[in-house]
Amino acid sequence: MIRIERPQPPPAILVGRGRAKSRTLKRAYTRSPHEYKSGSKCFAFDSGIYGHPAVKGALIAAQYGKCCFCEAKITHTSYGDVEHFRPKAGYCQTSRGTLERPGYYWLAYEWENLLLCCQLCNQRHKRNYFPLANSRSRATCHLDNIDNERPIFINPADEDPEKYRSFRREIPFAINGNRRGGKTITTLGLDRPILNEMRWDEYSRLKAVYRITEIADRYPDDPELQSVADDARSILAAEVRSDAQYAGMARAALASGFGL
Ligand SMILES: [Zn+2]
Repeated sequence: MIRIERPQPPPAILVGRGRAKSRTLKRAYTRSPHEYKSGSKCFAFDSGIYGHPAVKGALIAAQYGKCCFCEAKITHTSYGDVEHFRPKAGYCQTSRGTLERPGYYWLAYEWENLLLCCQLCNQRHKRNYFPLANSRSRATCHLDNIDNERPIFINPADEDPEKYRSFRREIPFAINGNRRGGKTITTLGLDRPILNEMRWDEYSRLKAVYRITEIADRYPDDPELQSVADDARSILAAEVRSDAQYAGMARAALASGFGL
């Protein structure tokens, strides 16, 4: 997970059809709040709006085709999900808690609530889980203010995840054991074995490349070695850019000199 710059203005479909649809949902809730809270009435969301190719395309471009949480390149293997950071249909305060309704229905088409996510992070790990530091501050309808909430999960489009998490080699950890970093890593499965394995492969490759630059630094008068080292430095520079898969790990590894 690294910082994401969500482009502005929002895609036109969210401003037009999205806001019109949001007004309809708000009016429906105002007419029957108890039915929506009890679950006897549920909102019908239009994935043709929040999942429109223009929305998805803008997210793919902003996130370089990577999952907002695990940084895997989604577009290599699937279409990816448009994820609602605040769940639109219902939420759980605890991982085994009951589903509370109606969810953040008024944010279903809000650009600031949308991210591109891989199916594993979205459907297996995050799902409807959305804990707050203080559940009593939760906005439960469109009349409440989400600015009063302090979400536990780090939203990479709102804040810099690198303040909360780092990596020891391929394994993510919460800096100074901070709660938000720890909860984000464990709940979203950012330390799941397949991700650790993928990052380890990348880490090993980059470490070998880094070693070339280290050796070359000791022999500044060797033009052949310096030429190879220039290529190695170019590779390292590319792997810490935001468009690189697992750039967060690569940045941490480079900053620590690969623990050498
Ligand atoms: Zn993911």
